[in-house]
Amino acid sequence: MNDDNSRELYDRALSVMPGGVNSAVRAAIEPYPFFVQKGDAGHVIDADGNRYIDWVMGLGPLLLGHSLPEPVQAAIQQKASAGPMYGTPTEVEVDLAEFVVRHVPSVEKIRFVNSGTEATVSAVRLARGHTGRNKIVVMQGGYHGAQESTLVEGDADNPAPSSAGIPQSFAEHTLPVPFNDEDAMREVFEEHGDDIAAVLTEPILANYGIVHPEDGYHEFLRELTAEHGSLLIFDEVITGFRVGGLGCAQSEFGVTPDLTTFGKVIGGGFPVGAIGGRAEIIDGFAPSGDVFQAGTFSGHPVTMAAGLETLQFAAENDVYDHVNGLGERLRNSLTEIVADQAPSYTVTGTDSMFKVIFTREGPGKDSLEEQCTAGCRQRPTCPRYDYCPKNAADVKNAETDRWRRVFWGQMKAQDVFLSQNQFECQFVSYGHTDEDVEQTLEAYKHAL
Ligand SMILES: *Cc1c(COP(=O)(O)O)cnc(C)c1O
Repeated sequence: MNDDNSRELYDRALSVMPGGVNSAVRAAIEPYPFFVQKGDAGHVIDADGNRYIDWVMGLGPLLLGHSLPEPVQAAIQQKASAGPMYGTPTEVEVDLAEFVVRHVPSVEKIRFVNSGTEATVSAVRLARGHTGRNKIVVMQGGYHGAQESTLVEGDADNPAPSSAGIPQSFAEHTLPVPFNDEDAMREVFEEHGDDIAAVLTEPILANYGIVHPEDGYHEFLRELTAEHGSLLIFDEVITGFRVGGLGCAQSEFGVTPDLTTFGKVIGGGFPVGAIGGRAEIIDGFAPSGDVFQAGTFSGHPVTMAAGLETLQFAAENDVYDHVNGLGERLRNSLTEIVADQAPSYTVTGTDSMFKVIFTREGPGKDSLEEQCTAGCRQRPTCPRYDYCPKNAADVKNAETDRWRRVFWGQMKAQDVFLSQNQFECQFVSYGHTDEDVEQTLEAYKHAL
């Protein structure tokens, strides 16, 4: 496989961009990432003309794949050519806001911003403003963007910044606990309950190998936060409009958060973020409230049109049936392949998300018949239950080096583009076909 052009481009990039990239995770591919020339349905074509089946899909935003349906393309072109933006409102912002309010049960009002990071920054500020409290509880290993309040490691007794440039005094207001651990959460509330503004979590840890909540965990979070007057914030930047269809993951779990952050899919492939929730809380944002929030590009007409037309297309076509069906097929078949070739590994994911976690230990091969067949659901009766990853530490203990250094390259050599490392999620799009799935499964068989 020739990669001369990608190498040359990366060489140029290293001279003018830190690590040669504009987002840290992109440099995770070694020795250098391939540069993309263009997309085509479920595929990307790199700068040297190599074609890959693409399960990265921009790391989440591209629900429809790389070839946008005609009405989506037309709306984008129309907004771009009408003059890109104005600094005063446009109708399409109201249209998209109404669409989200109509479909997501917990959202009565919404504010659009420009990235998932900006959404979680603003949601945390709003939660603090609303409650008059300082502390935020997050899940260890959870990702909420590149922001001061959530780039934290350690545990609730010893939180520390996970990046240089963040004062220890910021980290002290963030309390990381393990996902799926009710006792740890109860302890944190016993100690700090009066000063906890919010619990911020993804409904499914989709940035850490894909970890499903145990049955009842979100109901538990809902009750505990309500009891202490804290807010429950679901970060649905990945799961929003991907898991649970247009109702998002919260409708699938039947749990109503106070606030929800959105990003990725809701902008149809353009830079976006949003904070939605109960009107009484969202009205805390300036100018109706006293929590300052503003943005030159917020509600950008091109983004709003791309998001609205994408979601409307999904509402009127078989998008979720298609992507969830292929997702189910991938997870089912991967479960069989793994049982045969690498029985300690765990297949995870739901709807249009999938991943194989290279867990080191598993139940005996004979008992695998009764495991979850289309992605780990943390069923206590599953023979794999004692071994499947329940939080970030469990995923981290997997064979992450083998995934990155051996497996990823073997998949790429077979023209399959998987996410950069063991932790990032993989996505099915409307552009993917049965044939893409077949070819990918064959590649897994060879690479595992
Ligand atoms: C991607 C992501 C973010 C950050 O969004 P950006 O648009 O990259 O800033 C926040 N939260 C979650 C759950 C994400 O997956």
